[in-house]
Amino acid sequence: MHKDLIVIGAGVAGTRLAVTAARQGVETLLIGSALLDGALCSAGSESTHRLYQEVVSGSTLAEALRAVRDEQQATRSLAHKALQSLEHLTFVSGSARFLSARVVEVDGTQYAADHIVVATGAKTFLPSIPGIDQVPWMTPDSLAKQKRAPKHLIILGGGALGCEYASLLSLAGVKVTLVERNAHIASSLPEDVRSRLVSSLTARGVRIITGVATTGVSHKKQFSLSLSGADVSRISADALLLATGRVPQTESLELSRAGVSADGRGFITVDARLRSTNTHVYALGECTGTTGKAAAFYQSWMILEHIFFRKRTQFSPQHIPWAVYTEPMVAGVGTLSSRHKSLTAQRQQYARVAINKGSLLGGVVMGAGADAVANELSSLMLMGSGAENALRSVPRLQGSSSEILNFLS
Ligand SMILES: Cc1cc2nc3c(=O)[nH]c(=O)nc-3n(C[C@H](O)[C@H](O)[C@H](O)COP(=O)(O)OP(=O)(O)OC[C@H]3O[C@@H](n4cnc5c(N)ncnc54)[C@H](O)[C@@H]3O)c2cc1C
Repeated sequence: MHKDLIVIGAGVAGTRLAVTAARQGVETLLIGSALLDGALCSAGSESTHRLYQEVVSGSTLAEALRAVRDEQQATRSLAHKALQSLEHLTFVSGSARFLSARVVEVDGTQYAADHIVVATGAKTFLPSIPGIDQVPWMTPDSLAKQKRAPKHLIILGGGALGCEYASLLSLAGVKVTLVERNAHIASSLPEDVRSRLVSSLTARGVRIITGVATTGVSHKKQFSLSLSGADVSRISADALLLATGRVPQTESLELSRAGVSADGRGFITVDARLRSTNTHVYALGECTGTTGKAAAFYQSWMILEHIFFRKRTQFSPQHIPWAVYTEPMVAGVGTLSSRHKSLTAQRQQYARVAINKGSLLGGVVMGAGADAVANELSSLMLMGSGAENALRSVPRLQGSSSEILNFLS
């Protein structure tokens, strides 16, 4: 079978790209291990928000998990019906591997296309801890599948996902111990925001252990972890959640047959236009090391414009807003170098932006509605040297989350 476009991976990025292409009349083949699988419908972004909403509105964790499962099922079957009736789109279920530069194979059948896009996502990294392969750990992706809510949980990994789940589960009344090997949790966040986040987590009873190596894990009735480098040498709990980073799902693709290069960890190497080392093959989303739905959606549109409309847009990650869905929420965009002018505001939220010669370089916001403020900062960044003026003069509704920007000084 020959198509204009083959998309491998029917998750957040792949499905979006394939649907948009088909709607433009591009004959598209979408190949996925399962339709709308991946971080979209396993636990990922949608469910983290939904879990928060449920927990904040008073549901128990077990009720919240059930609500999320039901919603995922409903979303998936609706999307399934919608996609099956979409003109110009064919869905093939299975795992794809490359045979050559423009040909892939799924379960013995070959498919060729002028252009191929890889969007196979990532999965949780399994750290090499003695005993880890013999215990029933879970991941943020598999949490929503749990029928019983844990009472006491250890989260291994204090990055953004580990912090989100520590925050969410502590709000739901679960006793949480967060273990991080680095000196700080949320080490990618600026220090002023990070220290506020640590205070809010510990105030809600989250026990944070940093600067430790986990030297072993076992499970009988409870999980037991041995630690070195901390005051405490052993911790136990009735559940273990791994938030230990993400690795790309590219190993079974046989990329080398298509002349597509990956880095030492397997992330596909792409240029600023998201082309791989084979110019007929593009890649986007988590298999390239880019996280977040905002980035995946932006990238999918960019690839289509490049292939079919010959537009030369380049991917600039510094304009893509990000959010860490803790309570309070943290969100931002761009960079916050201390070499440039810094403005801060502290009300019910906290905000800081960096400015250079009238241009907004980036900002970070903590508190209710931080994600909406980050969206506005992202738009302001696109204004170039007019951004500082706009930051001060744009009218904002009183009481809205963006009002914090009126108080920057
Ligand atoms: C717990 C969690 C919470 C998150 N929260 C947020 C959030 O709040 N906001 C946000 O913006 N982002 C969030 N993210 C990140 C966001 O979900 C991801 O960046 C996004 O899903 C990446 O999309 P993707 O298409 O690259 O990968 P995925 O959505 O994971 O899709 C990849 C798909 O490819 C399939 N596949 C793999 N190999 C093959 C193969 N050989 N052949 C065919 N198919 C294959 C997989 O089965 C999967 O269906 C979160 C992620 C996680 C894990």
